[in-house]
Amino acid sequence: MKVIMLGAPGAGKGTQAKKIAAKYGVPHISTGDILRENIKNKTQLGLKAKVYMDQGLLVADDLVLELVVARFKLSDCKNGYVLDGFPRTIPQATALDAKLDKKNDKIEYAIDVYVADEVIVNRMAGRRACLNCGRTYHVDTLKPKLEGICDYCDTNLVLRDDDKPETVIKRLEVYHEQTKPLLEYYEKKGILHRVDGTESIDNIYKEIIHILEA
Ligand code: AMP
Repeated sequence: MKVIMLGAPGAGKGTQAKKIAAKYGVPHISTGDILRENIKNKTQLGLKAKVYMDQGLLVADDLVLELVVARFKLSDCKNGYVLDGFPRTIPQATALDAKLDKKNDKIEYAIDVYVADEVIVNRMAGRRACLNCGRTYHVDTLKPKLEGICDYCDTNLVLRDDDKPETVIKRLEVYHEQTKPLLEYYEKKGILHRVDGTESIDNIYKEIIHILEA
C-alpha cells in the first residue's frame, strides 16, 4: 500500500497518516519529522534545513529527495508506506513517480485532508509539540494527560517556531503556491480523494479507511 497524504500544514494529515500506517503495518514517513530529527541531532542537513523551516519556507527539493530515497531503502518499506509532507512540490512528485516507474510501481492513493486557512491559523496557535519525541498535542482538542508535558517521554511541550501565527501564515502561502498544484496533478492521475478535515479525528479516519477499502 502506497499512500500520499496531502493537505495544508495543520490540516491533521500527520495524525491520520500515523493511524493508517499502523492499521496497514507500513511505515509512516514524515519528511518534517525526519528534518526535525536532523535539527535535533545538529547534522549538516539539519542546520541547513532549519534556516528555511523557521521562516515557513520549503527546504530545497534535492535535500528532501535525498532523505526520502535513503528512507525508502530501509526494509520496512517493502510493503509500502504512508507519505506525510512529501511530495510538497511538483518537481518532488515527478521525481517520486520517476523513481517508482523504474520499478514498475506507483502511488495508489493521494488523500487530501481539506481545511480552510482561517481554521488552520487558529488550530496551529493551540498546537503544542514535544521536541524530544515529535508528538503533537492541542490545548483544546488533544490535551496531554498532564498539562504541558508529553504523555510518552515527560518532556515539556512547546509551541514550535514554525507553528507561530506569523510563520503559519507564510507556510499557508507557500502551501497555496507550491503544494496545492499537486491536487490537480494527482486528480489527473485519477488517484485523488478528498476528506473534510474539520470532522472529528475518528470520522476522518473512517472516511479514509472507506476510501482505501472501496
Ligand atoms: P511538516 O511537519 O510536514 O509541516 O514540515 C515542517 C517543515 O519542514 C516545512 O514547513 C518545510 O520547511 C519542511 N519540509 C517538510 N517536508 C518537506 C518537503 N517535502 N519539501 C520541502 N520542505 C519540507
